[in-house]
Amino acid sequence: MEQGFTKASSANLPRIDLIMLGTFLASNKDFCSAEFRNVKTSMSARASYGDDAVSYVQVKREGNLCTIKAKICPEHKVHAKLYGVSLVVDEQEETVKSVECHDCVASQGGCKHAMAFLMWVHRRSEDPSCTSIECYWRKSKLSRVGSTLKYITATELSKGSPSLPSDTEVFEKFVEEGKRRRLTDCELMKYQKDYVWNVK
Ligand SMILES: [Zn+2]
Repeated sequence: MEQGFTKASSANLPRIDLIMLGTFLASNKDFCSAEFRNVKTSMSARASYGDDAVSYVQVKREGNLCTIKAKICPEHKVHAKLYGVSLVVDEQEETVKSVECHDCVASQGGCKHAMAFLMWVHRRSEDPSCTSIECYWRKSKLSRVGSTLKYITATELSKGSPSLPSDTEVFEKFVEEGKRRRLTDCELMKYQKDYVWNVK
């Protein structure tokens, strides 16, 4: 932990309500950029990513300002370097001052790690208050994959509800076309019942 910081828990995390969140996003150009208006933001803002990716949360209070730092696990490379993010909230004025990612080149805060962390703190503020205190100074679920957890299934991820389309038409067409073209370098094809490994 860094100097002056304490382990974050459900008892000492600053509150970021919907108004604070909306005001910050609307007035911050880094988060209003074209990149954030598209699907990428909704991906980093969605609960299942943030809740599994946030780790080692620490808090420091100085006057009205509360600084929260955390490490974010990259979504697709669970053993890669963690991204350091920090968020500053003015608890007196009830405003989000800044949110920054320290490990993205040229991000100036407007990256998906910063967004994921901001949304994570917001969601904690909305969590129903619980009698037990939850400590957030811990390894993320994603980082544990491969070490303490051998693997993770979609349903074990936080709020895991994989949204699989009920219509399998596209999938079937793909398999059909794959067979027609005799694809040999496609993992999906190897899992089909009638796949025959063909030696060239
Ligand atoms: Zn980043």
